[in-house]
Amino acid sequence: LGAPELRQCEDVDAGRHWPVPGADDDKYSGGVLGVVAGSQKYPGAAVLCAGSAVAATSAMVRYAGGAADRVLAAWPEVVATATIGEAGRVQAWAAGPGGGVDDAAERRLQGILATDVPVIVDADGLTILARHHEWVRERSAPTVLTPHAGEFARLTGSPVPADRLAAVRTLAADLGATVLLKGNVTLISEPGRVAYAEHSGHAWAATAGSGDVLTGIVGALLAAGLDPAFACAAAARVHSTAAGLAAQGAGAVSKEGPGAPVSASAVLGQVR
Ligand code: AMP
Ligand code: MG
Repeated sequence: LGAPELRQCEDVDAGRHWPVPGADDDKYSGGVLGVVAGSQKYPGAAVLCAGSAVAATSAMVRYAGGAADRVLAAWPEVVATATIGEAGRVQAWAAGPGGGVDDAAERRLQGILATDVPVIVDADGLTILARHHEWVRERSAPTVLTPHAGEFARLTGSPVPADRLAAVRTLAADLGATVLLKGNVTLISEPGRVAYAEHSGHAWAATAGSGDVLTGIVGALLAAGLDPAFACAAAARVHSTAAGLAAQGAGAVSKEGPGAPVSASAVLGQVR
């Protein structure tokens, strides 16, 4: 029957399916996301990743990385825990941005991947995984990997070929993971299932920290129980839309200072 269908992220109705709190909800209803990102060297990755998860949905965020002081200063609603074991019951984990690749980071990532909840791995976490494909292959719960071209090359051992869609499908099938390949056009694939392409990417997303924000958004959607490929498609759509709105906010374009912050409702209003 040929390759599975390719859908556009624009057509997923991200706004309509976005998890929003209902009248009977409590603080756990949006799901609990564990975040292991950042370090004393790269605290910004922790602030951006945990913060985008806080901003994207009503998920509770538990932070178990190495920059808790900075995360809590920026996002006081985050709950810090010393270790992943002490994070309690989380519904999903987001790991990797700015966390480093040393032995401690490696052990922590291994521990997270040994859980039975969905995990998104990005950035430094992908560098660690280049040596440990089996940690992904052996999982029973969903794994989402979000490489840019360089991380994709490290993970697979060769550069992204001209046929990016075939490459992302091959890696997804090989590792049994949902793979989101970043770039001007973002491609998402899950073994044997529909693939998605996000074409409305905004070049203002090509800036430091942008990927850390995407990781937090995907993580929040996984914690809310969304299907992994759908979560990636919806997050990519919202991420691009937010970048476009931020650029329109003129600060980024005119260099006259920061534009108005982009509100979640403005973003979701555009992707409905
Ligand atoms: P990272 O490389 O991890 O910081 O992630 C960068 C983010 O920005 C990803 O979501 C990319 O898809 C997006 N991005 C990077 N370059 C571009 C571009 N030229 N146009 C649109 N989106 C981009
Ligand atoms: Mg990145």
